[in-house]
Amino acid sequence: MKVYNTLTKRKEEFVPLKEGKVSMYVCGPTVYNLIHIGNARPMIVFDTARRYMEHKGYEVNYVSNFTDVDDKIIKKAIEEGVSAQEISERYIEECKKDMAGMNVKPATTHPQATQEIDGMISMISTLIEKGYAYAAEDGTVYFRTRQFKGYGKLSHKNLDDLRGGNRSLLVSGEDQKEDPLDFVLWKPKKEGEPSWPSPWCDGRPGWHIECSVMSKKYLGDEIDIHAGGEDLIFPHHENEIAQSEACNGTEFAKYWLHNAFLNIDNRKMSKSLGNFFTVREISEKYDLQVLRFFMLSAHYRSPLNFSADLMEAAKNGLDRILNTVSNLTFLSGKAKDAELNAQEQEKQAELASYETKFDEAMDDDFNTADAIAAIFELVKFANTEVNGESSKAWIDAVKQKIVELSDILGLIVEKEEELLDADIEKLIEERQAARKAKDFARADEIRGILLEKGIVLKDTREGVKWERA
Ligand code: AMP
Ligand code: ZN
Repeated sequence: MKVYNTLTKRKEEFVPLKEGKVSMYVCGPTVYNLIHIGNARPMIVFDTARRYMEHKGYEVNYVSNFTDVDDKIIKKAIEEGVSAQEISERYIEECKKDMAGMNVKPATTHPQATQEIDGMISMISTLIEKGYAYAAEDGTVYFRTRQFKGYGKLSHKNLDDLRGGNRSLLVSGEDQKEDPLDFVLWKPKKEGEPSWPSPWCDGRPGWHIECSVMSKKYLGDEIDIHAGGEDLIFPHHENEIAQSEACNGTEFAKYWLHNAFLNIDNRKMSKSLGNFFTVREISEKYDLQVLRFFMLSAHYRSPLNFSADLMEAAKNGLDRILNTVSNLTFLSGKAKDAELNAQEQEKQAELASYETKFDEAMDDDFNTADAIAAIFELVKFANTEVNGESSKAWIDAVKQKIVELSDILGLIVEKEEELLDADIEKLIEERQAARKAKDFARADEIRGILLEKGIVLKDTREGVKWERA
């Protein structure tokens, strides 16, 4: 498997630090609003990378944070007259709902900045001890950027160019910095803001330090993959590298993966410009599986444009797969022969070739666009090579392959069959009979079967009633 590494600007063979295991950190959202479809892009593409690596047999430890203390959260809290914690908790819950809708797996750990303050104070203290950070008079702690020799290696920036650029950005408080390049690790509290005690002043952490601390705590000093949107390369990820490597004395992350931006109608999408859609808005019009399909139809490092037409095209594409799978389910139920016939046996190698194509695409820096093209070829194959004369074994094998490959991309293409009302009534009758015969084990079993299909039973005076949950 090859991945493009922003650090080396090359596609490299992926070799994990520990055989069979992958440690991966993905910078998560700042939770002050419903997430927008731009935020959804890293969630979907890196969830897909995770799923593919799991498919290849790796055990993936996937950590993604929620930034739950930040100026924007505090601003929103003040506007609503509630605490910052109330805002962040609300939007973490909402974010998790959107993730579930997009079939993004929960991370192994979802740490939150406000729960990790001790770790941040400890890392900042180490950086001060090692001479990489200093406290100014008002208690602000800065990272001594020039002290870290590798600064600029991820964004491929030259320190002197940065200095030129930064000088014009001098703002209040900057005069206490030793160097304009230095960045904040800890800042003093302002009236009405959440704060924590520290050796330097009551205050709160800067943004960059949280990821260095959480990555160290949940994944260790050295990790395989660190990922996020390309806007994070500088300064966020550059600063994370400086903090972590200065503190730990080892290389922070081996591979740095960055997704390109999602634009709207060929314009940069941003909350400040007001031209953005939340995932929730999209969910009112489409199944979020369509949004997932749309995101994966482009390579994650290519800019992607969002428009109503392209979403319609994505819906049609996904429907093509869904229809074929549903047709195969229908044919399987009607098939006369169980075993493969001679002609089907001959076609087995061709069936397998689509999976090879899929894997080759995904092995090439998670090329989901080509992986989807391989699924479409397989769908075409299904539509020509499976018909009313096919054996059940053949129909099921073809269907299974489509479902399996789609599943690696996190696309659910097989709808759970719903129980018909008549089937439910029949099972309830059987349960009543079992209870009469004092076969409570069977009665419970039937209740369980129904519950699995979302059918809830209620024993009432008028008899057993049921409803779909
Ligand atoms: P934020 O909440 O702004 O910190 O963003 C959370 C994640 O979403 C980061 O990885 C960003 O790089 C990413 N992101 C934000 N906007 C976009 C966009 N328009 N396209 C792609 N990724 C984005
Ligand atoms: Zn981060």
